[in-house]
Amino acid sequence: MTESFKALLLEPQPDGPVATIRTLTLDDLPAGEVLLQVHYSGLNYKDGMILQGRGNLVRDYPHVPGIDLAGTVLESADPRYRPGDPVVLTGYRVGEAHWGGYAQRARVRGDWLIAQPPGYSARQAMAAGTAGFTAMLAVQALEDHGLQPSTGEVLVTGASGGVGSIAVRLLARLGYTVTAVTGRPENANYLHQLGASTILDREALADTPAKPLLGERWAGCVDTVGGDMLAHVLAGMAYGRSVAACGLAGGAQLQTTVLPFLLRGINLLGIDSVLCPAERRRGTWERLAALLPGADLDAITSEIGLEDLPDCGESILKGQIRGRTVVRLD
Ligand code: NDP
Repeated sequence: MTESFKALLLEPQPDGPVATIRTLTLDDLPAGEVLLQVHYSGLNYKDGMILQGRGNLVRDYPHVPGIDLAGTVLESADPRYRPGDPVVLTGYRVGEAHWGGYAQRARVRGDWLIAQPPGYSARQAMAAGTAGFTAMLAVQALEDHGLQPSTGEVLVTGASGGVGSIAVRLLARLGYTVTAVTGRPENANYLHQLGASTILDREALADTPAKPLLGERWAGCVDTVGGDMLAHVLAGMAYGRSVAACGLAGGAQLQTTVLPFLLRGINLLGIDSVLCPAERRRGTWERLAALLPGADLDAITSEIGLEDLPDCGESILKGQIRGRTVVRLD
């Protein structure tokens, strides 16, 4: 008899997909070279979208969501991995186009895996997850375009969220002066503890339609919000500086003018964590693990079970989750 395990299964209903905890067997899993015991997954904004059936991200149901997973190899037809190896998977549209981490077992392609980053437990790797990896990519992109601690104030939008919290921490650790933008002033102490020097109210930054140009204030920005916020940020960048555009928590539309680009030489850098090439992916994870100790991640992490995911998926889309949330599978 084939082994059975628990999974959160999304099944189509007339009003959108419904998530239920089901018992599946290994025969239910999709094809792949590596069978994993999943210890932890995570909750990212995209998981919220998938759980709520938004964005047309999942085309085939029934579906197991969970865009991140950390686990142990049980069986492998890929010579790079052996039973017992601790591994991590983020991106590659896993949890979206392929069954993901909200299950005690996963079968995936060997090309999608990396070794569990040094110094991290499976839980800590998921506390970083796609959010931490994306924050590190964003910081690196700004550095590649000339950002240094002496350049000036660096802005992080959506600062209490997963990508935002880790970006604040990483930038502070690297010696930058960080200004955190939040719509939740009650998180000011939390953001100061992460290393933000200044807290800005979301409304104060983006309450009116953005002027084409504002005073030249920001030396860099990690933007997780998009929409009107990004338009304001672009207008307020100092000459020749860069914005790393990571997210759309405030909207996918961008209404702006070309003036910040033409008159101030501003760079808008696109950040993609999903198809980031393997070599860059490994290097970025290594740097993240070196800069951000597991204990720092523990301090911003909440833990939930599969049964909590439908509610938490709704909460993350409403901007109600602070820091990172890991999903326990063991
Ligand atoms: P979170 O929900 O954890 O963080 C988003 C934060 O944005 C919230 O905590 C809130 O912060 C702020 N926010 C929420 N709603 C609004 C709004 N309507 N207007 C302005 N600010 C808002 O999500 P994640 O950190 O997981 O992801 C953040 C974004 O980055 C998402 O859009 C996600 O899709 C994207 N992303 C992109 C990746 C890539 O590869 N490019 C990878 C990972 C994430 P506060 O309350 O402090 O204002």
